[in-house]
Amino acid sequence: MSDKPATWKKTPLYLTVGDIREPKELMPRVEGMITCQICLMVLQEPQECDKCQNQFCKACVAEWLTRQRSFYKSKECPFRCRDFKQQRSHKFVRQMLAELKFDCPNAGLGCGKLLELTQFEGHERECMYEVERCTAYQHCKVERMRHEVLSHI
Ligand SMILES: [Zn+2]
Ligand SMILES: [Zn+2]
Ligand SMILES: [Zn+2]
Ligand SMILES: [Zn+2]
Repeated sequence: MSDKPATWKKTPLYLTVGDIREPKELMPRVEGMITCQICLMVLQEPQECDKCQNQFCKACVAEWLTRQRSFYKSKECPFRCRDFKQQRSHKFVRQMLAELKFDCPNAGLGCGKLLELTQFEGHERECMYEVERCTAYQHCKVERMRHEVLSHI
């Protein structure tokens, strides 16, 4: 996807089903189930409508509700269910999401690590291919991948 940010230093992560590496055999069947029906990215903190059971990211639902509050008297889900109540997505959906593995966002720079959704944040702090500045940047101006910054000192 070309409109995807180049780095992962943002929340949400903007992961699409095309970013899923494993398990491949699951992919064709789960695509519709693990995609947010608002942003069309892989679900993050999945919530569902208690009536139509469509899935949304928690942040996407919050934004949807804020925006529609000024137009409608009762809460509606993005699929127009009246009296919308959101609930945590079914266990099946959450389990499926937990099993998916994605490339490290620095795969293009050489990182070969596969990550589960919950591992992104932790890995960002230790990925040797993350671009960072030398701790003495004011004098040194070195800005490279972490393993190169560490070895240049
Ligand atoms: Zn609904
Ligand atoms: Zn979303
Ligand atoms: Zn990495
Ligand atoms: Zn330096």
